[in-house]
Order: sequence, then structure tokens, then C-alpha cells
Amino acid sequence: PAKNRAPTPKPWIEAIHAYVPGKSSGADGRPLIKLSANENPLGTSPAALAARAAAVEPSLYPDPDSTALRRALGELHDIDPARILCGTGSGELLTLAASAYAGPGDEVLYVRYGFSLYEIAARRCGATPVVAPDADYGTDVDALLSLVSERTRVVFIANPNNPTGSFLPRDELARLHAGLPSEVLLVVDQAYVEYVAPEDDDGALALAAAHGNVLVTRTFSKAYGLAGERVGWATGATELIEVLNRIRGPFNLSNSAQAVALAAVRDVRFVEHSRLHNLQTRARFVQALEALGNHGIRPLPSEANFVLVTFEGALTAEVAYNGLAERGYIVRWLPGQGLPHALRFTVGHTHDMDAIAAALRQMAEASK
Ligand code: PMP
Repeated sequence: PAKNRAPTPKPWIEAIHAYVPGKSSGADGRPLIKLSANENPLGTSPAALAARAAAVEPSLYPDPDSTALRRALGELHDIDPARILCGTGSGELLTLAASAYAGPGDEVLYVRYGFSLYEIAARRCGATPVVAPDADYGTDVDALLSLVSERTRVVFIANPNNPTGSFLPRDELARLHAGLPSEVLLVVDQAYVEYVAPEDDDGALALAAAHGNVLVTRTFSKAYGLAGERVGWATGATELIEVLNRIRGPFNLSNSAQAVALAAVRDVRFVEHSRLHNLQTRARFVQALEALGNHGIRPLPSEANFVLVTFEGALTAEVAYNGLAERGYIVRWLPGQGLPHALRFTVGHTHDMDAIAAALRQMAEASK
């Protein structure tokens, strides 16, 4: 046994529960078709895979500033690369944003049924999480604004939101920003933005270009199909980016991560194909579930690559979750996030979504 006991962490660290990822296997360890983590069912761009194989030697440190990748992102989105920072997934950047601008005594605000990392990011720097009520699972701008106090330092909003799939339109996002004091940082987490119809642009990039207190984060983990490479990026005013750059991990993107993401940025067709596949399959899945309304099953409107479904009838979310696992599908049940009555389904291959809808119908009819 160790001679000395482990030191006691800070009290705000003690309050943190570890992030719980979507499961990838059943109770008996059997691999299942995984529709629990919003990964891309189409995999990765072939060009990105080829770039990965050709990435520079692992014995050498990577470019610490991800220069080529930032330049390519800047070209694609018409942003000065000085206003772009890459991160080890967008998760690193969300955490950095909270750490840079909030601390003990400060408040970090976000909506109920939001991405669970916001609470971890807030607590990790000693700030107090403040949770605004939702409006039928969507983001309620008035509720958020009513909770802003002189202690508020950071507001997180995911658009589209995970796990609800809800989307805050451009005018509502602008209203949220306009209602915040300028010393509050608004972080718009656009992890799922590539799935949103182009005509529904929420205007976040324009807000980040025009104002010093808006940070937009994006990821390669979803539509780009690169969750395993851990690449995200953020844009905001140069001053914001410089601050976050000082506290990020050095060499935060590996050689292969930079090479793969660079090739992926250039393969716009793969992302477009992913978006169209998602659009069609999501609509088909939602339509199939809408027919189960008489069983208390309700798919919520989604602009993302997943659908949150509530179960208010005889078939409960828990029973449906277990029944789907028996049939080889692992989806996300979220009792720990206040959603014991809901399941989140990543939009996978069309045949899998058809099989899931049929299984839900069968289970609902059997439990009448
Ligand atoms: N934001 C949201 C809303 C997410 O759902 C996720 C992934 N679950 C992330 C950020 C973080 O993803 P990554 O760190 O892989 O970029």
C-alpha cells in the first residue's frame, strides 16, 4: 500500500462526475450497431484516410500551430487564420473558454438538456453552473436572459442542441447576444452545424466576426467522420483566440490528426453527401415514428444527425432501450440528464433506422 494518501482535490473538482460517453457494446460485451454517439455512418472521406496513411513520421513533433489546417479552414469559411484556433476535439476548446473567462464565484449559464461537458467545463474552473429551463425541449432565450447576473461570465449554447436536436434561428441567437452584457462570453457550439440546411444559417460566424465576445466552436467528429482523430476548431476575435491559444495543450493536434483534417476540409463533397444522407434518412425515420404517436412515442424536431424520441405510453424508454440492445442496436438513454423518458437515436444507415422503427412498433404493440 502507498505510504502517503493521495492529496485532496479542490472542492469544485470533487463535485465533478466524469463524462459518460455513449456505449459501444451490450451488457455482455457483444459489439452492437452503435447509434449512441452521433458518429457518421458513412465513415470518413477516402481522401482523408489516404492522407492519414501518408502523415509525417510519428517520431517528430507536429506543427504546434496546425498552420496548414487553420489556413485551409480560413479559406473555406473566409476567416483570417489568426482568428482560428484548433483543439483536441471541440471539447478542449469549450473547456478552455470556461477556464479563461470564469473562476470561483463566477457563473456559467446554459440550458437544461444541454451537452453534459458544459457542466464539467464550468465546475473544473470553480465556477457555478446555472441551468435555464427549456421550452418544450428547445432553447428558451428569455429564460436564459432572465438568469444573467453580474456574476455571469460565460453562456454556452449548442446549435443545433445535443441531445434535443433543437435549433435556435438566427434572429433568436442575435436576440440572445444582444441581451448579454459585453463582458459575458457567448460560446456557440456548432458541433452539428454541417447538418443544418444552408438556408437556415444561424449567423454565429457573422456574430463572431463582428463582436469581441462571441466564440464559435466546430468539430471534425460528426459530419467529417473523424471522431477518432480528435480535431475541433474555434473562431472569434483575435484577442479571444490569443487568450485561448496561451492556455491550450502544446502540440494539441497530432501529425495524423492535422493531415487527416486538412484532407477532409478539402473534400467538401464528402460532407455534402453526409448531409444529404442524414437529411433523407432522418426525415424517413421521423415519419415512421410519427405514426407511433398513438403509443405515446414522439420524435422531436431535429436539425442534427440524431433524433430525440420521448416515450410517454405503455412502452417506456428503458424497455425500448433494452429491447433494441437485444436486437443488436445501442442507442442513448439519458436518465442522468433528466431524460429517463427519452432515447436519442443517431441517424445511421437507412436499413438500420427502418429496422429500429419496425422494432419500436412491434414492442409498442406488444406492451399495450
Ligand atoms: N458539442 C456538442 C454539442 C457535442 O455533442 C459534442 C460531442 N458529443 C461535442 C461538442 C464535442 O465533440 P468533439 O470533442 O469530438 O469535437
